[in-house]
Amino acid sequence: MDQQAKFVISEVDPGTLARLNSATFATISAWTQRLNAPPEHIETLIIGAGLAGLSTALHHEGPSIILEREAWVGGKARSEEFEGFTFDVTGHWLHLRDPGIREMVLRLMGDEHFMRVRRMSRIWSHGAYTRYPFQANTYGLPPEVIKECVMGAVEADRSLPEVIQPEDEPANFADWIRFYFGEGIARHFMIPYNAKLWGVQADEITSRWCQRFVPRPRLDEIVAGAVGCNEREMGYNAEFLYPRRGGIQTVAEGLADEVGRENIFLERTVQSIDLQSRSVTLSTGESISYDRLVNTMALPDFIDRIDAVPDTVLSARASLRANEVVYLNVGLSCALGQPDHWIYVPEDEWPMYRVGSFSNANPNMAPEGCSSLYIELSDRDTPLEELRPRIEEGLCAMNLISSPDQILFMHERRIKNAYVIYDFNYHECRQEIHEWMDGQGIWSIGRYGDWNYSSMEDALIDGRRAAAEFLEAR
Ligand SMILES: Cc1cc2nc3c(=O)[nH]c(=O)nc-3n(C[C@H](O)[C@H](O)[C@H](O)COP(=O)(O)OP(=O)(O)OC[C@H]3O[C@@H](n4cnc5c(N)ncnc54)[C@H](O)[C@@H]3O)c2cc1C
Repeated sequence: MDQQAKFVISEVDPGTLARLNSATFATISAWTQRLNAPPEHIETLIIGAGLAGLSTALHHEGPSIILEREAWVGGKARSEEFEGFTFDVTGHWLHLRDPGIREMVLRLMGDEHFMRVRRMSRIWSHGAYTRYPFQANTYGLPPEVIKECVMGAVEADRSLPEVIQPEDEPANFADWIRFYFGEGIARHFMIPYNAKLWGVQADEITSRWCQRFVPRPRLDEIVAGAVGCNEREMGYNAEFLYPRRGGIQTVAEGLADEVGRENIFLERTVQSIDLQSRSVTLSTGESISYDRLVNTMALPDFIDRIDAVPDTVLSARASLRANEVVYLNVGLSCALGQPDHWIYVPEDEWPMYRVGSFSNANPNMAPEGCSSLYIELSDRDTPLEELRPRIEEGLCAMNLISSPDQILFMHERRIKNAYVIYDFNYHECRQEIHEWMDGQGIWSIGRYGDWNYSSMEDALIDGRRAAAEFLEAR
């Protein structure tokens, strides 16, 4: 943009400019929609251009199209820019363990597109920082807290059966925590942190989601971590990949280029699905018939759009629950006082459960001399103006900033259906719905289509698996 154009725009009131921009945007997208109309029939119709939908199209052999509600691709793997800052939808760190998926992503984007980052993550409680995971690193906490955690772990270890059969494991997550870690670790981290994250108490959910996500150190490692000599880095995410520029959405953009933009139809919300005629109707009024349907939108929303659903499936759908994540994108005018990529905050007295920093992982995510945070809030109801003083107090107490004056902006964002709740109805109800969909020739995949707790890599694997199944069926 030349200097004159910049001047003219700066003269216009920002409200008018925003309205003007959105009007222009709407007109352009209406033109684009007309120019780029989807076909009336397609072999494979994919709902959603998140990673699962893009991966399905990428691996699919034969004609397919993607219909996407938003004006962009990526779904949750999305990035937004604001005044030189780039924010993802909270921390979106890429862990690629599947060789085929890793090779595909690195080939599409180029190896040089990514930095390899060694995880820097800690817990902040009792006014002190301790290493991740809490259960293996209590060194640095007040002595009486360490004693309670270690003694609890010793007790728990003594009570464990010699060989643990699946049926020995307690059904609810709170009891599972006590079973493996003991009272102290449960009380000082596991129970309060998980209640803040999930928005429900640990005894309302099962432990079946947590095998992969919750590291289980041995007793000798817990003791070593209590005296400060635990060397082992634990957990599934000790190293991750992150794009050098543009945020995590660049991965989705790379996949979309490979799929072919002409096969992706943006701003096409699927409104209703007629299983009898195998067709969908869109918010634009368009109608498309298909041979095969792949869904990646949230499972309850998908069921709500289908015309004839049996009562058993409807009642299973009514039991599916997910929480909402409320988070803040924060720009700071200073360097951060701590080096971490994310910090867990388990104590109830603070309204946040995790504070992360994009710019600590990649300085290109903020303008020079500045830094950025994402703050995930456990208090999902109180208005931000009321919460803000306490959040600022917390950031100062954590030595992330020295004064609230260093905060340039704090933007609130919400994610509906962020974490699926693994309550006691979850497995049965999800299975009931999936069995019915299998009989209808519907593939419902991805974190939200399948309705599970999984990663970006899992979404890519799901798409690849679905495409392989189509090929096999042929
Ligand atoms: C807070 C949070 C943090 C996370 N952090 C990480 C992380 O660090 N690392 C990691 O690997 N994973 C992380 N994940 C998980 C990751 O975001 C998901 O696993 C992955 O992005 C899911 O992709 P998807 O394609 O299955 O679903 P989505 O990304 O949700 O894609 C679904 C798409 O369907 C579209 N859609 C919805 N309704 C309609 C409709 N009616 N018509 C047309 N289109 C529609 C949506 O707009 C969306 O684009 C995190 C998730 C959350 C919520």
